[in-house]
Amino acid sequence: MVSRVIPVDTFDLVIFGGTGDLARRKILPALFRRYCSGQMPEDSRVIGAARSEMDDQGFRDFTREALAEFGKSQADNAEAVEGFLRHLHYVPVDARGEGGWSDLKDLLRDDEGIVRAFYFSVGPSLFADLASHVHSRGLSNRDTRIVVEKPFGHDLESARALNEELAQYFHEDQIYRIDHYLGKETVQNLMAVRFGNMLFEPLWNAQYVDHIQITVAETVGVGGRGSYYDKSGAMRDMVQNHLMQLLCLIAMEPPARFEADAVRDEKLKVIRALDPVDPDQIVRGQYTSDGEMPSYREDAENPTSKTESFIALKCYVSNWRWANTPFYLRTGKRLASRASEIAVVFKETPHSIFGIDSGRHRNVLSIRLQPNEGMTLGVTIKEPGPGGMRLVDVPLDMSFAEALGPEAEEVTDAYERLIMDVIRGNQTLFMRGDEVEAAWSWTDPLIEGWERRGDSPKPYDAGGAGPDDAAFLINRDGRRWRGIKA
Ligand code: NAD
Repeated sequence: MVSRVIPVDTFDLVIFGGTGDLARRKILPALFRRYCSGQMPEDSRVIGAARSEMDDQGFRDFTREALAEFGKSQADNAEAVEGFLRHLHYVPVDARGEGGWSDLKDLLRDDEGIVRAFYFSVGPSLFADLASHVHSRGLSNRDTRIVVEKPFGHDLESARALNEELAQYFHEDQIYRIDHYLGKETVQNLMAVRFGNMLFEPLWNAQYVDHIQITVAETVGVGGRGSYYDKSGAMRDMVQNHLMQLLCLIAMEPPARFEADAVRDEKLKVIRALDPVDPDQIVRGQYTSDGEMPSYREDAENPTSKTESFIALKCYVSNWRWANTPFYLRTGKRLASRASEIAVVFKETPHSIFGIDSGRHRNVLSIRLQPNEGMTLGVTIKEPGPGGMRLVDVPLDMSFAEALGPEAEEVTDAYERLIMDVIRGNQTLFMRGDEVEAAWSWTDPLIEGWERRGDSPKPYDAGGAGPDDAAFLINRDGRRWRGIKA
């Protein structure tokens, strides 16, 4: 299946932090691939703006190297690379100072037909400064968009302050808060599967679903960004945003239309329906050294750190659809494998006509975000052969790459999709201000609770499945985590 390219308007996209790590690894390669696909109009411009002293040529050289490393197969096409580089410009700008702003203004085109967007790919402490400068220097109009990277706040108070700050200069429909999980093809597929099929939706509730598991497991540690991570931890870094978004898409009611506010209204209702979580339903962990790789505390350069690199918790969405259905969330670093999965575990049949020997069977719909994006439905069938009715669970397995063809893999990068959505003015896959605040309102008391009690995270072995207590959290309910494969 060949992916369809939806044309977008010509744009001037300014990347504040254009020489940073995110620009190098994600934003510039994503734009390049959209250029290769023909989606980026020929007269569009990408303008790097950062503190480093550099000219257009320097930025093009920087980008050429970034594409060689992160541009995927298209980067082998030298003509395409050079064609893309011609669209790039650079202006040295200090977010907190005077330098560069008038040069940037001169470079931007005042043409109503040209979309203007500013990507804030800098540390969060600069978001408000940038917003204020963009506004006060006359760089924005009613149609200008700003893209704000994560983290959006550190807690409710800081998120609220940032929302208020941005609202001084921009309307909510101009603000694109990125959670790149929402740009993943499989995450959008959650909505397609739920709301495009008659098959699942009637069963998607407490009557038929026993519980839901959401796992985002990583093999990497926090080395390299240890000191940043140590101030945040798995709850702030992963649960408050990415896992919360996945939970919302699983739990939300069908929106009337696939439109920004219709979808975001439904997600917000889910977050607001989340119950507070008891402390004994939360397990936090910290990886230890395996002899070769450093421990979390070594990576974080903080020998007494109480920050979690792993968290597992059980929570409830208190509404008609999900009353008393547990949602088990789990995420961590240095685990056995890199695997992200949502598993909807259905209840057992109310009565087995095959007798007690046929065992206990539950259908499981597993949606894999990585690796090998796809879906598996566990179905119970008869074990082959004579000798009575023995039942066995087998997978109906679908890999999206196999089902949709190799082109499907080429469009999977979240940033490609999200940046083009900004240009198209489509906010459906971006978080609204009230959504972010609601997520912090749920998260803050949990964090305050363990900080107040002085709880220490449990040590766990690198390369495993997290602390033993995480297994106990679910086992005591008569359930088991699905494996994180080694
Ligand atoms: P980085 O430190 O690699 O780059 C920061 C960029 O900001 C550089 O281009 C630098 O020149 C510029 N900058 C710093 N101070 C400035 C100033 N006063 N005025 C103008 N420019 C200034 O950071 P990064 O890893 O690229 O992250 C950027 C943002 O993206 C952060 O908010 C980060 O949390 C977020 N983010 C990064 C990643 C990632 O994988 N790197 C992933 C998710 C989110």
